[in-house]
Amino acid sequence: MRDPNARESNTQVMSEREPTIIVGAGPVGLVSALRLARMGLPSIVLEAADTFPIDLRASTFHPPTLDMLDDLGVGETFVAMGEKAPFWQVLDVDTGHRAVFDVGVLAGEVRHPFRLQCEQYKLTPLLHEAARATGLVDVRFGARATGVRQDADRVTVTFEQAGATRELSAPWLIGADGAHSVVRRSIGLSLEGETYPSVTVLITTPFPLERHLRDVAAANYIYTSARSGSIFKLPGEWRVTYYPHEGESEDSMLSDASVNECLNAIAPGTAPWPLTEVRAYRIHKRIAPDYRVGRVTLAGDAAHLNAPTGGMGMNGGIHDAVNLTDKLSRVIRGDSPDLIDLYTRQRRPVAKNDMLAQSDGNRKRMEDRAPARRREIIDGLRAIAADPVRHKAWVAKASMLDGLRAGAATT
Ligand SMILES: Cc1cc2nc3c(=O)[nH]c(=O)nc-3n(C[C@H](O)[C@H](O)[C@H](O)COP(=O)(O)OP(=O)(O)OC[C@H]3O[C@@H](n4cnc5c(N)ncnc54)[C@H](O)[C@@H]3O)c2cc1C
Repeated sequence: MRDPNARESNTQVMSEREPTIIVGAGPVGLVSALRLARMGLPSIVLEAADTFPIDLRASTFHPPTLDMLDDLGVGETFVAMGEKAPFWQVLDVDTGHRAVFDVGVLAGEVRHPFRLQCEQYKLTPLLHEAARATGLVDVRFGARATGVRQDADRVTVTFEQAGATRELSAPWLIGADGAHSVVRRSIGLSLEGETYPSVTVLITTPFPLERHLRDVAAANYIYTSARSGSIFKLPGEWRVTYYPHEGESEDSMLSDASVNECLNAIAPGTAPWPLTEVRAYRIHKRIAPDYRVGRVTLAGDAAHLNAPTGGMGMNGGIHDAVNLTDKLSRVIRGDSPDLIDLYTRQRRPVAKNDMLAQSDGNRKRMEDRAPARRREIIDGLRAIAADPVRHKAWVAKASMLDGLRAGAATT
């Protein structure tokens, strides 16, 4: 007589050998692939672009994310590529009034008690290299997913590559294909919420701002007489972001006069500065109603979008990828697929209540820039920073540690 357990274990071996399909080789797709590989599970990653883009996107990495990258074996190399920010501040450039938050208070709770300022585009090739070295990850560039369909047992993705239409099928698929996710649309979900009415401007410059602005830190949220925004130090350059005046057009924000007015307000009499890039981007506050439909899951920007103020979108997406692959690996090895709904229950409220709400609050606080209000806001933040208990709680929340803990406690 056949041993029923033997059949079961064969099925399990089969499903462990079957790759998971991941759509999108951004930070979230690649962390998913590398993490599955570290657990001995293969994946195929479809990436629409022919190579990794060098674009100005995330630069702030929070302490728990650095711990996760370290667990994946790329932390040390990545930290060496960036600029450590041991504290961040909210600074009124006009008066020098400021509130300083020390990330070092998280020592003992995280292995990297600092923020790292480093370009997102330096992380993706590093993750790709580590993933390829496992022999379990097959990243296919120039492969654009066009649709996904599924039945009870399998999910099939259609994609265009080298002028041909192809298909791949697998037991599970992760949609990590960013804000305009084809995967999300294919499973009938939209990103619900709103788009902010005006754009934000981001400048990159080699100008040695540290010589011209007293008390500047590696990470600063700033008020000036002209604008409010942020200033971040990256290796060899600064990134300056500024927000619109009410109802201001993109053309007006990007004009030389606006750029120079903003820079002169930061360091009087110094503009024009040498500029590497000036660009405008639109921001959103949006989230998918579910992170799973059948055998298809969503993570990162495919599932949620928030204002960059506070640096949470990519960090939160990486936290999604770690949580999701934890559940998915167990399902592939025989646990109930319902376990993946725990991923949604743990991560979606964090995105909604922490990432979207916190980044919106950060943004609104910085836009409230009448001189009296700035003083009041910074005084309030200084009171928090002066109280050790509130200070630590504030830093834990802004560093996304709170969200991770709340998620982990959800059953
Ligand atoms: C100016 C700016 C500053 C930011 N700063 C921060 C910050 O400091 N900290 C932070 O945490 N976040 C920040 N963010 C947000 C962060 O950049 C995103 O949250 C992050 O890129 C999301 O990663 P992802 O992997 O989910 O999506 P993406 O990075 O968008 O990657 C998606 C990938 O999928 C591919 N793809 C898309 N469609 C398809 C398809 N049909 N088939 C195959 N492949 C496809 C794309 O080519 C891309 O490679 C910032 C964003 C901006 C715009």
